[in-house]
Amino acid sequence: MKTPFERLKINESLQDALMNIGFKKPTDIQERVVPGIINGQDMIGQSQTGSGKTFAFLLPLMHRIDNKKDEVQAVITAPTRELAQQIYNEFLKISEQMPEEEQIRAKAIVGGTDRKRMAEKLKSVPQLVIGTPGRINDLVKAQELVVYTANMLVVDEADQMLDMGFIEDVDHIASRMANELQMMVFSATVPEKLQPFLKKYMKNPKHVHVEPQHVTAKDIKHVLLETKHKDKLTMLLKTAKDFNPFFAIIFANTKKTVDEIADAMASEGLSVERLHGDIPPRTRKNIMKRVQKAEFQFLVATDLAARGIDIKGVSHIINYEFPKDLDFYIHRAGRTGRAGMSGICASLFEPTDQHAVQKLKERKISFQFEQYKNGEWIAVKQREKASAKPQDSVYVPKPKKVKPGYKKKLDEQKKKLMKKNRRNQK
Ligand code: AMP
Repeated sequence: MKTPFERLKINESLQDALMNIGFKKPTDIQERVVPGIINGQDMIGQSQTGSGKTFAFLLPLMHRIDNKKDEVQAVITAPTRELAQQIYNEFLKISEQMPEEEQIRAKAIVGGTDRKRMAEKLKSVPQLVIGTPGRINDLVKAQELVVYTANMLVVDEADQMLDMGFIEDVDHIASRMANELQMMVFSATVPEKLQPFLKKYMKNPKHVHVEPQHVTAKDIKHVLLETKHKDKLTMLLKTAKDFNPFFAIIFANTKKTVDEIADAMASEGLSVERLHGDIPPRTRKNIMKRVQKAEFQFLVATDLAARGIDIKGVSHIINYEFPKDLDFYIHRAGRTGRAGMSGICASLFEPTDQHAVQKLKERKISFQFEQYKNGEWIAVKQREKASAKPQDSVYVPKPKKVKPGYKKKLDEQKKKLMKKNRRNQK
């Protein structure tokens, strides 16, 4: 076997390019979807950012595009400009390693850039288009971009596309593409509401589901920081200082809370930026650039603003609050511990979060409890009785009437639970 990437059935130049950028072997999702896509199969790849999913669709597309044909052959759509740009950057990473005669022409088409300049740029026809659905659709409608020659369409982060109301744009683009369209949909979740769209375009798609914990569980430590009814913002500021992370993303559920946190951190002199839906595109772009250069230490963000964004070197995730949809907990945690690095996902914890924690435990996430003592967070074996529940600690409820031999039984039960807890905390 020439390289470990041979089993993906991609050409030798692509294999060499991957080896040159230092990759050792395909990731799970890549192994499971690349050969099928090369064979022309419709594909639903259910996996999250961090699993190597971008190359799972880029590699087979790059393998199949004919660089002798001067026409658009494949379109990749992503819900945000940052994500589209990131996919384009991943493309460049590989492309730079390819021999010149095998290189293909790709263009990033995102909103925010000048329309006229974009139309000018499109005069040399790209073979691969990577962009946001709105802007691609505008250009298709204006006939400045011709896509009927393209028979491969990737919809990345499809659930988010749906949430943000972009599926109609994608639908319109798809309807202008070749009749024999191969569609590849990547999404962390596949909600029921997405089905009509999938059914419209996909013929017997192969559904590949890579469990998030395959990527995250090994490398990420999940920590619950007990706030013990103290002011959450104060606790967060203490946490930020105590962790003094290489780079942390702090998640909150609303724009307003993101602003409150970022303002409070800034007034404490911490090096902080924020990302949410109301931040103007130009500022967002600038923040993303500065993130890559590690020019500040904390990013406070909402889920939608940060999802899909691959920031290297995130050492800590801090959840100011648990997300309503617990899938987002997994996405948040997935921002750290990337590509073999270890990471910490810490959540400020109140007794009302118990239900969320229980649900996450059912998804095989094990948590370590910590309490704030003498200026730092200390791991505790046992939560204090006031907020303790049987699932999380060695607290075992007593029956009203104590039967003979009960105490001995209770001690045994406690010992068993303590052993189990210790195992979980390892
Ligand atoms: P993604 O899930 O596409 O956002 O990828 C997460 C990170 O993994 C990116 O920084 C990729 O460059 C990297 N990556 C993708 N494929 C591999 C691979 N086979 N080996 C090592 N790293 C990879």
